[in-house]
Amino acid sequence: MRLKILLSHLIFYLIIFQANGQILQCKEVINPIQIDETIYTHHTARTSNNNTQYVLNVFFHIVRDDNGNSPAIPDEQIQDAVAMLNIAFNDFDIFFKYMGYDYIDDSSLLSLNINEFNTLQNLPQFRNNALNLFIVDEVTSNNGNLYAGLAQRPGIKSAFTASYFLSATLPHEIGHNLNLYHTYEGWNTQNCEHVDQANHPNCEVAGDYVCDTPASYKVPSGDVVYLNGDFYYQNNSNTTDCLGDIYVNVPIKNFMSNNIYQLNNYYRNLRDHFTPGQGVRMRETIENIPSIFGSIRNTVESLYEPFDVHIEVDYDWVLSETQNHDGTVTTCYGEKIVHVFQKGFDYDFYKWEGGDASNSTFEYSVGRLQLPVNELPLQAVKINQVSNTNIIVFESSAGIRPNPTAHCTTARPNSGKVITSNLDGSNATIRDMNNQELQSSDDEIIQTLESNKRHTLIKDYDNGERKEKTVFKTN
Ligand SMILES: [Zn+2]
Repeated sequence: MRLKILLSHLIFYLIIFQANGQILQCKEVINPIQIDETIYTHHTARTSNNNTQYVLNVFFHIVRDDNGNSPAIPDEQIQDAVAMLNIAFNDFDIFFKYMGYDYIDDSSLLSLNINEFNTLQNLPQFRNNALNLFIVDEVTSNNGNLYAGLAQRPGIKSAFTASYFLSATLPHEIGHNLNLYHTYEGWNTQNCEHVDQANHPNCEVAGDYVCDTPASYKVPSGDVVYLNGDFYYQNNSNTTDCLGDIYVNVPIKNFMSNNIYQLNNYYRNLRDHFTPGQGVRMRETIENIPSIFGSIRNTVESLYEPFDVHIEVDYDWVLSETQNHDGTVTTCYGEKIVHVFQKGFDYDFYKWEGGDASNSTFEYSVGRLQLPVNELPLQAVKINQVSNTNIIVFESSAGIRPNPTAHCTTARPNSGKVITSNLDGSNATIRDMNNQELQSSDDEIIQTLESNKRHTLIKDYDNGERKEKTVFKTN
């Protein structure tokens, strides 16, 4: 059943693909700092004593027009991007610390020519302590090509065509930033990565320099097969490598594989992983090129800190309620302090009872696809992707705000109901409030109601609020 649904999607998108016919690809801009391949081990698994957790700051720039209108993407998508990056890279102990976003109001950048890419770092908004991700309407070139993404390799800046931002293009370009090549790099050159690594090994010195990504070629469109639960390029053109060996089924789910199919939602999200060898290479890039990556690293502890602390009106906390003499009610509310944590991790929140973290009491969990918004005076957090044992205690001010500024609203009740039952809830009856009751306070109404009953008062106000109160009237 599942396969059937999948195949019908496939057919649908193939039609879309052919109808549109545009191919968006990726462009790399090589960093003038020469990187020597000798910094890499080309291992395809991490050595057991290599446990460093790398935390990289990430900052987003949303480009708008000169007047501050028409942002390339809505800002609420930024948290999804933070989540997507962490989900893609956390297996390799590479984490992204969200440092925020800003707007760049410059109409001339909405359509970003690849020739302008290097000038982005001269903008005052450019951050030298973070990966800089620019989101524009489209990335173009002088000859009219459109690009899904553009990245400096290795480097700390990338740019995205907005409609491709929340797609596999995102980890793809950040992979380039961390000095990954396309899996098919150099396939049509004399020095290609060989299909036959058993007899002609060269994966450490050719192709993408990663040995657990098979030799690949860049194929024309339409050349996709679905085999044993995975998607592959089928080499039905019998394309050969530089030794004359025919490329075999080439996986297309690697983030750094051919992105020719990014045109539609289905294919562009098809790519879903890096290999362990690519993970090792990215870690060695961060570790061994401090001139580029030293300044964007952060601490593991920083991941546990809320990125946003702000004050909101606490509508559950009524400071006062005043019956005015014109039928309206003025209600004043207190305030709460809210902590917002970055999206993309599985969090457990704890209440810290003092002493050390082991005294903490588990309160609740928030999954990686939710935005953790904490309004309780909790002071301890566990991020399961970072450590499944460590609980980090931090200074927390979340919860109700002492001595709040009162936030008052005046509203007129439109309608109301009284639900009356026995104290145990049996024999409930419901009736509408009369005009007299609508203009009275809850306490005044309760005075008039029957004793030894349970009463629930529900009032709807003209500002859309609903207030509900239940009393057990025992005398
Ligand atoms: Zn690329």
